[in-house]
Amino acid sequence: MFNRTLFDPEHDAWRAEVSRFLTSEVVPQHDRWVADKKTPRDIWQRAGAAGLLGRGIPRQYGGAGRDFRDSAIVIEELARHRVHGLFTCLQSDIVAPFILRLGTDAQKDRLLPALCQGETLGALALTEPQGGSAMSDMATTARNSGESLVLNGCKTHISNGSVADVVIVAAQSARGAIGDQPGLSLVLVETERPGISQQAIQKCGMPALDTGRISLEDCVVPRGNLLGAEGMGFVYLMSFLGVERLVLAIYAQGCCERILQDLIRDCDARRTPQGSLLDHQNPRFALADLYSECAVNRSFIDQCIPQVQDGRFDPKSACIAKLRTTATLKKLAALGVQLRGAGGISGDSGAAASQDLLDASVQSIWGGTSEILQDLIGRSMASGL
Ligand SMILES: Cc1cc2nc3c(=O)[nH]c(=O)nc-3n(C[C@H](O)[C@H](O)[C@H](O)COP(=O)(O)OP(=O)(O)OC[C@H]3O[C@@H](n4cnc5c(N)ncnc54)[C@H](O)[C@@H]3O)c2cc1C
Repeated sequence: MFNRTLFDPEHDAWRAEVSRFLTSEVVPQHDRWVADKKTPRDIWQRAGAAGLLGRGIPRQYGGAGRDFRDSAIVIEELARHRVHGLFTCLQSDIVAPFILRLGTDAQKDRLLPALCQGETLGALALTEPQGGSAMSDMATTARNSGESLVLNGCKTHISNGSVADVVIVAAQSARGAIGDQPGLSLVLVETERPGISQQAIQKCGMPALDTGRISLEDCVVPRGNLLGAEGMGFVYLMSFLGVERLVLAIYAQGCCERILQDLIRDCDARRTPQGSLLDHQNPRFALADLYSECAVNRSFIDQCIPQVQDGRFDPKSACIAKLRTTATLKKLAALGVQLRGAGGISGDSGAAASQDLLDASVQSIWGGTSEILQDLIGRSMASGL
């Protein structure tokens, strides 16, 4: 839709491969997964076998050892094919990089190959029932007990939360980063352990993507399950959540471009006594505004993608990318219903347009709400960063 200079022919070939896999293995099933509010487990293994998982993870740990542009292509193709049930970027670009960057050799050997093959499903559990935005207020604890940690607490609205085999849990621990102050730690918790229970949460936005509640009651794990240093969790989250937000922004931008393209096509096809809908100034201007927003967002995202690879990516850009793309997405999804008239809420076109609207609402909430992103951008602005 927009001119891009980011990719070389090898990337284009990879995009075609991803598209082929999604078209043949996922798209024909996806409506059923949406209706069932459930994505079958075996598609993760097939995605792993097709190389869709762990593109950026080194080959020695079962990944493809490719650059972040390969990952971006997978995310964009998920959005272009209207797929949310198999949200591979959660596994590949959010969970696995935490383990790659913080894990011991033993943790990496044990977990990464299975995550890249889709044999093991992973999740990142930060949000708690009393509020996901207040990360400093987490109530889940990881108490030291000899060579073990004992976890207690509850995490909610966790992607893959009811199906994950291993969860990175953020919990308050006795020792913090600074002296003896309590601090957050990240702990790997295998869900087969006693004391952990998982429950699916039904939701209307992105219904095929598993979202779950995870309860921990005296769940004992070895101290060797600490991910990184004890008490450093907050520092790790602050530095890694930037890439998570960019990943979500790349997906949101992909959704924007798909919705825009379909809407322009449908408005052009819709006849009125004066011509097509695009012959009327109001729809044409409304679409032109959002087309322009999309073009500017695309250019910003494409500037961010190589920065991840070069290690130059800054958290403020991630907040801006996610804030802007999800705001445009919500406007576009609402216009997608309005400009289709009754067809925006009935029949197949209405089902798709209304689902787009619900899915868009998810995207300005997860990974940090728009209000929290505005706050973070505002604070960094004031400190001159
Ligand atoms: C589909 C889905 C998948 C998710 N996946 C994950 C996951 O994998 N892992 C995970 O840990 N979490 C996940 N989440 C949780 C998500 O990160 C939280 O929902 C989000 O951080 C907001 O927290 P909350 O829902 O508790 O809302 P709250 O924090 O209660 O916020 C409610 C409203 O108040 C506003 N608000 C709150 N505090 C402030 C403030 N200080 N200033 C201004 N406004 C404020 C918010 O912006 C929001 O509009 C997921 C959520 C969804 C919907």
